Amino acid sequence: MDDNKGLKIVLIVLIVLTIIVFAAITYLYVFDDKDNSSKSNYSKKAQEVMKEYNIYNTINDKEYSKTLEAILEEDLYNNAYLNEYYNIDYSSIPDFPNIITNLLNKEYNSNEINYIIKNYSKDLNILLDMEHIDILQFKDITNFDINKLERYLQYQDNNTDYTLEQLVTYVNIGLDLKGYSKYVEYTSEEAKDYSILVNKYHKLPDDYEPDDLVSLSYNSTYKLRKEAAQAFEKLTAAAVLENVYFYPFSPYRSYETQKVLYNRYVARDGTEKADTYSARPGFSEHQLGLAVDVRSSTLTDNLTPEHYEWMLNNSYKYGFIVRYPKGKQYITQFMEEPWHIRYLGVDLATKVHNSGLTYDEYYDLYLETR
Ligand SMILES: [Zn+2]
Repeated sequence: MDDNKGLKIVLIVLIVLTIIVFAAITYLYVFDDKDNSSKSNYSKKAQEVMKEYNIYNTINDKEYSKTLEAILEEDLYNNAYLNEYYNIDYSSIPDFPNIITNLLNKEYNSNEINYIIKNYSKDLNILLDMEHIDILQFKDITNFDINKLERYLQYQDNNTDYTLEQLVTYVNIGLDLKGYSKYVEYTSEEAKDYSILVNKYHKLPDDYEPDDLVSLSYNSTYKLRKEAAQAFEKLTAAAVLENVYFYPFSPYRSYETQKVLYNRYVARDGTEKADTYSARPGFSEHQLGLAVDVRSSTLTDNLTPEHYEWMLNNSYKYGFIVRYPKGKQYITQFMEEPWHIRYLGVDLATKVHNSGLTYDEYYDLYLETR
């Protein structure tokens, strides 16, 4: 009996001790919690959610994060992203907590998210509608246009040998689409600009005709816009001084003239072939009154290699560029045309010449307004 009684006493003492210790711990915990509550920088709502997730102390021991607070307030907290929350800069854009949650779920890291929110807050849907992509690879590409992102990625898949710079520029030009399938149509007012880009993706109005066409001294029926005509006379005179003789043979052409020409070529060679050397009506630089074809002799519609070389190296000084140079057919969408020169004005022609780029590329990189 005595042994049993002793055992009971020991048991009771143990139970009482356990209760005391447990009560003390609970008391300390609650007390501690209250103490922290009063010191927390977070909103009441955020604090409640922290307690639900048992992260109250963990979070309040660290520096305050407005991003984390926003996430908690929306009840979007995910323990796996705790460190990322701290590294994501808070933004006041609408729906911020949901947006960053979406991006985190797509495996974007805080670095990428900060970049995206800072640069593309107005185009977030584009990124939210697709799988994770390496967005930072486009960081230093000045002509990157997020609205063309899917086209870049698709073009990249089909052209793995291009640099990122090339593929962005080429897609911006439109090279991922078939020429003439999608184009910008200018107004007559826009068409007057000396820097205007005309190619298979940029069309002139059918009725556009420059109002300042003047005759060339070589032949009074050959016309260019006044400024281009004067520059052409200077170019010709400068060439003669270096014993380079060339003659214009196709200057300004109206929409109607271009139509007749193009249709004749199509009848002769078929559309596909004709499209490699003749522009469709409305898509020809000749309609601008700023382009002229030149030849070394009346026996051929071409320049000799020597004259072509001279033209490449000197025409910019008088405001002209060789518009369809050798080896650039995949960009200009026209076969090499040594004879076709385009007036841009001395400043711009010099810049294009120095860049070593085709005008299509130059225009996209430096003149296109996005
Ligand atoms: Zn031409």
